[in-house]
Amino acid sequence: MSSDLIKTDLVVIGAGPAGYTAAFHAADEGLNVVLIEKHQNLGGVCLNVGCIPSKALLHMAAFKDEAEEMTEHGLSFGSPKIDLKKIRSYKDSVISKMTGGLNQLSKMRNVTVLHGNAIFESKQKITVKGQKKQTVEFKNAIIATGSSPIIPKPFQIDSDRVMTSTGALSLKDIPKKLLVVGGGVIGLEMSYIYSSLGSEVTIIEAAQEVAVGVDRDLKKILLKKMKQKVKEIHTETRLNSLQEKGKVIVAKYTNDGKETSSEFDRVLLSIGRKPNSKELGLENLVKIDEKGFITVDNQMRTSCENIFAIGDVVGNPMLAHKGSSEGHVAVEVILGKKTICDFKGIPSVIYTEPEIAWVGLTEEEAKENKIEYKVGAFPWAASGRATAVNKKEGLTKILFDPKTERVLGVGIAGLHAGELIAEGCLALEMSAVMGDITGTIHAHPTLSETFLESAEALHGMATHIYSRKK
Ligand code: FAD
Repeated sequence: MSSDLIKTDLVVIGAGPAGYTAAFHAADEGLNVVLIEKHQNLGGVCLNVGCIPSKALLHMAAFKDEAEEMTEHGLSFGSPKIDLKKIRSYKDSVISKMTGGLNQLSKMRNVTVLHGNAIFESKQKITVKGQKKQTVEFKNAIIATGSSPIIPKPFQIDSDRVMTSTGALSLKDIPKKLLVVGGGVIGLEMSYIYSSLGSEVTIIEAAQEVAVGVDRDLKKILLKKMKQKVKEIHTETRLNSLQEKGKVIVAKYTNDGKETSSEFDRVLLSIGRKPNSKELGLENLVKIDEKGFITVDNQMRTSCENIFAIGDVVGNPMLAHKGSSEGHVAVEVILGKKTICDFKGIPSVIYTEPEIAWVGLTEEEAKENKIEYKVGAFPWAASGRATAVNKKEGLTKILFDPKTERVLGVGIAGLHAGELIAEGCLALEMSAVMGDITGTIHAHPTLSETFLESAEALHGMATHIYSRKK
């Protein structure tokens, strides 16, 4: 096989949100950039089999639920008809619009895109094995190879009835009975989608509770809805085995020492993801920890001076916006700027309905780490806008430093919480204090007023709730 040689300032491996953001930013800053991606589509997990397709389906699921809820208030559309083929093609059209957009943006920025598997030959040379073999010589490299679902050996059975999130998003059919193993963000979002489509969903989770790490007050609101939607949620329950039997999967799981055996049409394994750091030829080049994450410093530099790593491959939280922010920092450092990753908070969102979003310190973390805090909270039942749009089950809460009244963390449960959390992110990043929030005019009637009234509630001054001053 002949090998072409390309020389470049910067090579980026992996065209997910971390990699393409870094590549585009570097090109905008005038660097010569090569972006290597082993799949045909750019966009990584996020655009192809993660954030974007799941949100297209969650949007449909929430829309269907909302239409059903409105029947009670005098607006009926009749029973929804589900055309799976059309839903699938809507989701696929969203993916191709977004990934096609990335191709165009790469061209406009003169980023050279190579399709193939990248393997490091040395700290200055990469081989790309695609339709043809190419060699890239570089001054700096950024590894952004992302992560893959974990499928423990005993559950690796040769059946498409046992799926990861990728299989679940391909939406082959609507299983009558679906077992979701893992009650984390992905498990909950998929459970929401499939139960809205009509599946009878059972969730099993090994931990004491689903959505580990989420503030209890917010979780309570989500669980109330999820318990109405899914058939069962079993916590402290471990999957023992999966076995294909004709057209069903027999799942055996243990709770409280008792084993249950049940049949399901499909099983979704959503028990975590592992970094894609193997098979890159990195063994003698950069430090990798025992879990497979590439070790980086606060400038995203690996143990090899001219090699950087960003995104899922460097560790948790595995979120697209964390990766793209790290991509910006890595490029700035390569450009010689004195930048570090010192984000005050990375927002997390569960895009179910209600949505749950949080940033910064949670009450549980504060208690665990003996950090003093005070809470200002506002229940959405007192919000005019939430009531008008029939979404009274929500809560906004802000954790403040008791001495300085500086924002330490924000949590929101309710409609569009994922959008509303942006104000909390800004408040945290800018070290806002309670007075900054109460002094900011919020449009009425909006859900964002719940943020204002949470801050006012700190001193019992929220207009729409009465709490006698002590
Ligand atoms: P990836 O997106 O994984 O991209 C890595 C790329 O590198 C891939 O395209 C891969 O093909 C390529 N690659 C790997 N090895 C090589 C190699 N040797 N040579 C060439 N190319 C290579 N995050 C959010 O923030 N919000 C969400 O709502 C959200 N929803 C999600 C829903 C689901 C179902 C899933 C699975 C994930 C979701 N995530 C979400 C997580 C998010 O998708 C990831 O955090 C994000 O994609 C990570 O970006 P990345 O660039 O680090 O890696």
